[in-house]
Amino acid sequence: MTLVDGFGRSFRYLRLSVTDACDYRCRYCLPGGFHKEEAEPPLTLDEIRRLVAGFAALGFWKIRLTGGEPTVRGDLVDIVAACARAPGVRRVALSTNGARLAALAPALAAAGLSAVNVSVDSLDPARFRDVTGRDDLARVLDGVERALTLGLSVKLNTVLMKGVNDGELGAFTEFARARALDVRFIELMPTADNADFFTARHEKTAALAERLREDGWREAPRGEGDGPARRFIKEGWAGSIGVIAPYAKDFCASCNRLRVTSRGRLRLCLFSEGEHSLRDLLSDDGRAAGLRERVTSLLGLKEVSHYLPEGRLGDTRHFAAIGG
Ligand code: SAM
Repeated sequence: MTLVDGFGRSFRYLRLSVTDACDYRCRYCLPGGFHKEEAEPPLTLDEIRRLVAGFAALGFWKIRLTGGEPTVRGDLVDIVAACARAPGVRRVALSTNGARLAALAPALAAAGLSAVNVSVDSLDPARFRDVTGRDDLARVLDGVERALTLGLSVKLNTVLMKGVNDGELGAFTEFARARALDVRFIELMPTADNADFFTARHEKTAALAERLREDGWREAPRGEGDGPARRFIKEGWAGSIGVIAPYAKDFCASCNRLRVTSRGRLRLCLFSEGEHSLRDLLSDDGRAAGLRERVTSLLGLKEVSHYLPEGRLGDTRHFAAIGG
């Protein structure tokens, strides 16, 4: 079965936040560091297992675990194993800052992880520290190498920031020359908390795509389960370069994902208002049908666009709260 909304979009990809806590202080996300805002605890392993089984029964075959920083959870390996075991799930992916990846990657891979997205906003150690608040570039890149050695599919997520890392296209393409990974430039998005930073640093990724074409990169055909990212490849390069342009006019037409927060609340869009709790349906295995019905019915509220170009920000203070 596949969930299809009123605009013809099919949903098979769940982004599940497992915690809103994060140990980094990225300037566009949590510049003051993480502060606990909610007394309610995150979903337990059992609740996550039921949630993922419910979405898998609705045809969701790709699960991404995100946060906050998912690796701050001591039971992350068990969470990955629970997701990988859910009937119908074909791909379990993780978004991480990479700080603990070198140590955790073997256990995560053994538990069934297939892919990892590592945030690397700069390949310059001082700039990396300036953006994230952590002098961690070397250990994050160790984690990237470890994941590649283990055969995981690897993406680097790089948020493009004017006057910060917009001169690093060459360094990142060079990084992808001999490594079979995808470097993805993500356009900086506005949230309630980052208005000044956004105004100062926002730069469209469209110019990057143009430069890639001039440098001999060509756009790759889209694959099954691909979201709104465009991917560029080049003869002689093991890796590829992706571009995510949330302001592009057809961005939402390829939306294929739903998000659930670490407290079990469905979010229909990064920039929507409001969340819909599913947690009351996760307390025992007997509520699976109710979970499927509620998700199916809530999908009817999903809008055709995020309305970002019109200035809508929704009620998201920062992406750490909902998983980015
Ligand atoms: N801590 C994990 C990580 O580093 O990937 C997962 C959570 S983080 C919120 C997920 C992704 O969202 C990261 O790649 C981060 O750079 C990106 N992100 C956060 N805030 C953003 C913003 N305002 N605009 C664009 N990307 C953002």
